[in-house]
Amino acid sequence: MLLVGAGHAHLVALRQWTRRGWQPPAGSALINPDDHAWYSGMMPGLLAGRFSREECAIPLEPLCEAAGLELILNRVDALDTEDRSLQLWQSTRNYELLSVNTGSTPASPTESDGSIPLVPAKPFRGFISAWEQWQQARSTPHLAILGGGPAAFELALSLQQSLPRLRMTLVSDRPLLAGHPKKLASKARRFLHRKDITVIENHHIDRIADGRLYAKEDFVLKTDALILATGATAQSWYREAALEHDPSGFIRVDSTLQASGRADIFAAGDCISLPGIQRSGVYSVRQGSTLARNIPAALKGKALRKYQPQAQSLALLATADGGALMSYRGRTAQGRLCGLWKDWLDRRFMRRHRLR
Ligand SMILES: Cc1cc2nc3c(=O)[nH]c(=O)nc-3n(C[C@H](O)[C@H](O)[C@H](O)COP(=O)(O)OP(=O)(O)OC[C@H]3O[C@@H](n4cnc5c(N)ncnc54)[C@H](O)[C@@H]3O)c2cc1C
Repeated sequence: MLLVGAGHAHLVALRQWTRRGWQPPAGSALINPDDHAWYSGMMPGLLAGRFSREECAIPLEPLCEAAGLELILNRVDALDTEDRSLQLWQSTRNYELLSVNTGSTPASPTESDGSIPLVPAKPFRGFISAWEQWQQARSTPHLAILGGGPAAFELALSLQQSLPRLRMTLVSDRPLLAGHPKKLASKARRFLHRKDITVIENHHIDRIADGRLYAKEDFVLKTDALILATGATAQSWYREAALEHDPSGFIRVDSTLQASGRADIFAAGDCISLPGIQRSGVYSVRQGSTLARNIPAALKGKALRKYQPQAQSLALLATADGGALMSYRGRTAQGRLCGLWKDWLDRRFMRRHRLR
């Protein structure tokens, strides 16, 4: 059995298997490029100076050891479903049962002359290195964030907190926090305004030239670097493998979380396409419990459980000052209590998965 990616769902599955004493087949492994899993929920708090690096990353070796898996530090670049093999950097691995939980990457503007560094919010290790360079910069950088969802909002506030001389602009191709209650977006705009963060909404940046951002032919902004906190894109190897995928390249799965038409491949988290899901850690964590049941059942030839996406999910958006904005079932709130609630949930997740 090979697990690819230490995403939220696989972390939950490993923890549940260890708790239940289930032993994976001999030779099973987790493949991940980093020996730590960075927890996105706490990443803005790290940038805002509220958490240390150690508090935000889960060491994978102890988790794998406890679950009876080898940890392979590598990344998957191709999948051959006929041969049941994975192409890694400088090696290949065969599987009998595969599970994919490799997340997503933010989208970039379609045309760029390379005049502005593009800094994707993920992977986090790379993003943190860029942040450290901005901290050391002598002159005041002007940073722009592309994206208008919760991650872009949280990153804007936390960067402003840790880089006070910074000039920051958030550019979104739709209204801020579209899909959330309008009241939440209004609260978010007020927060950004108070911190002198400029917000440009309904501008789709599709071209970068001479250090400037353009929406079609219109000049929008001049910036020193562009942080990508845009919607999720799929990795190219999903599309290149003989797997069913949606038009954006995400792996289509059935309600058992098996790749459509494949009994030997599971997938979960941001990399999947399934009606009713959202691409967020909250959904991936829930899918982890289904994987934890279904993978052992599939290996024993037993009936599989169906995953039902939650109809509503709680959104808690950190405001970099220990507080948070909250929305649930159309209701919104803000303040220190919401922040304490978010911290409690995040720290609980970390406590459960940090074995050393
Ligand atoms: C700044 C920020 C804050 C966020 N805050 C929240 C929040 O508070 N709540 C929330 O619900 N969501 C939040 N999100 C969204 C959340 O991060 C994602 O939806 C979630 O991480 C998806 O989890 P996942 O299980 O799909 O995989 P991920 O947690 O993204 O993990 C994927 C893993 O796969 C590994 N990997 C990637 N490619 C390969 C490969 N080719 N081979 C092997 N391994 C690979 C990666 O190294 C990583 O370890 C935030 C996102 C950002 C950017």
